[in-house]
Amino acid sequence: MNDSFIIINFMNVYSDRISQIQQAIARANLTSPHPETAVCLLAVSKTKPASDISLAYQSGLRHFGESYLQEALSKQKKLAHFAITWHFIGPIQSNKTRAIANNFSWVHSVDRLKIAKRLNEQRSPNLPPLNIYLQVNISGEASKSGVTLEQLPALASEIKQFKNLSLRGVMAIPEKQTDYEAQCRPYRDIYQTVQKLEDPTLNHFSFGMSGDIKAAVHEGATMIRVGTALFGQRNYYSEQKKTD
Ligand SMILES: *Cc1c(COP(=O)(O)O)cnc(C)c1O
Repeated sequence: MNDSFIIINFMNVYSDRISQIQQAIARANLTSPHPETAVCLLAVSKTKPASDISLAYQSGLRHFGESYLQEALSKQKKLAHFAITWHFIGPIQSNKTRAIANNFSWVHSVDRLKIAKRLNEQRSPNLPPLNIYLQVNISGEASKSGVTLEQLPALASEIKQFKNLSLRGVMAIPEKQTDYEAQCRPYRDIYQTVQKLEDPTLNHFSFGMSGDIKAAVHEGATMIRVGTALFGQRNYYSEQKKTD
């Protein structure tokens, strides 16, 4: 064993956490009614420095999610040498759509036609279509964003007309619950409703965060958005809202 081995090993501080999360996903998949589903781990790096993303990347992660545009753009610039797939997961204001449309591959938080229209118009036709999740909000959800399950089919069919967007699935941020069954319920309701639509484009489910990985995977998540369990607690800095 030489020095460089030790340095490389030390750099991969995220390897253990990633393998723990991957094991939790695998265990949840064993008892899931949807066990064939491959689950992508999206590393939510908002408020975390580019150096943390770099280490997680070196530990094998390729998908990173950000919520604040200016912060994301600055990290993207620093990490341009990495083959990262960037996901925008935060609330979208109209005046931010151009930058979001052209600097991300996936957007998880589309919940109205006006925003979808702007993303479609502003996405460069030289780029592949922007992958879209529609954010669904069923009653009692923590976030005020999102369409109801009743509104989902109409919005989905409008968005499918947009040639620079590719509708992929649904995203949800349920209210925080500690009880396992209570964590499962909203995801199950959304999953079953979407299945009934029999729409092959809606086959991705962005479900689950650090606190409910097991429930989300059990209920059909194809992508889970994990921040704290990977990068540790976030310290929200007060400047954030001002610069965004
Ligand atoms: C911050 C955030 C996450 C990550 O939450 P953790 O509890 O830290 O894993 C996931 N999804 C969205 C939309 C977020 O804003």
